[in-house]
Amino acid sequence: MRIIRSRTELATLVAQWRNAGQTIGVVPTMGSLHNGHLALVNALDGQATRRIVTLFVNPIQFNNADDFALYPRGLEADATLLDNTGKVDVLYAPDAAEMYPQGFATRIMVAGLDGMLCGADRPGHFDGVATVVTKLLLQTGADVAAFGEKDYQQLCLIRRLVQDLDLPVRITPVPTVREADGLALSSRNRRLTPQQRQQATYLPEALKTCMADIQHGKPVSACLHACRENLKTHGFDVHYLDLRTGDTLRETPVPVAGARLFVAASLGDIRLIDNMAVA
Ligand code: AMP
Repeated sequence: MRIIRSRTELATLVAQWRNAGQTIGVVPTMGSLHNGHLALVNALDGQATRRIVTLFVNPIQFNNADDFALYPRGLEADATLLDNTGKVDVLYAPDAAEMYPQGFATRIMVAGLDGMLCGADRPGHFDGVATVVTKLLLQTGADVAAFGEKDYQQLCLIRRLVQDLDLPVRITPVPTVREADGLALSSRNRRLTPQQRQQATYLPEALKTCMADIQHGKPVSACLHACRENLKTHGFDVHYLDLRTGDTLRETPVPVAGARLFVAASLGDIRLIDNMAVA
């Protein structure tokens, strides 16, 4: 596996691959890799002849300087993990100056999807995501790219931007990979104290209980209220807990086909998100 840090070096390699008739699969990440990321790599099996994992902690999608500074990083461990899969040709890890050279002034904004859920909580976050993902898809010449359902709003937004900007790339969604106790794998989990890690188990549990109550026909607003209160009792600061449609992410008072529960809640200063299909 090659580690490439420069756009021009990547462009040269991508051009060679193209000339040789290769197809390119890409997994964009912010590093601190875990089995969720590896599931994305595996999801490209049979979909492309070459595979690139990108690693870039994107400063313009953080609206909190501390969150950016404290985001876990470890290029060497990430490179080893990817190399051991035997499936990755290139780890593309540009630095911020390479991605956003002096004078960089463009933002991609996906209207509507960017202002709700995590977008309401984190102003500018999804403009940063949309901008960097567009650049990464173009720089890597991706034919196919894998994204996790763990970040379901991000997945919807990327599908929208790919369609709207006529980007010639297929988006492959990958179901959320969880720990044995149900907690969705996340790079941020590494920052949880042992006690917070135990508390965190309650997040998917509460979602499952809420989902079952809704499926049993209890009124959605009452289920959501009870779930919020439960999470608060277990020490969470709940940012949102909503039932929304699975495509446009509109709030829905009933469990329409494809509806999902979406939650963001913090333990101390660590913000966790999760979502589950209800119907
Ligand atoms: P991140 O490095 O957190 O920005 O995530 C990079 C990609 O991995 C995104 O498409 C995420 O949705 C995906 N991802 C992160 N955690 C998981 C997980 N537990 N299961 C599946 N995909 C995940």
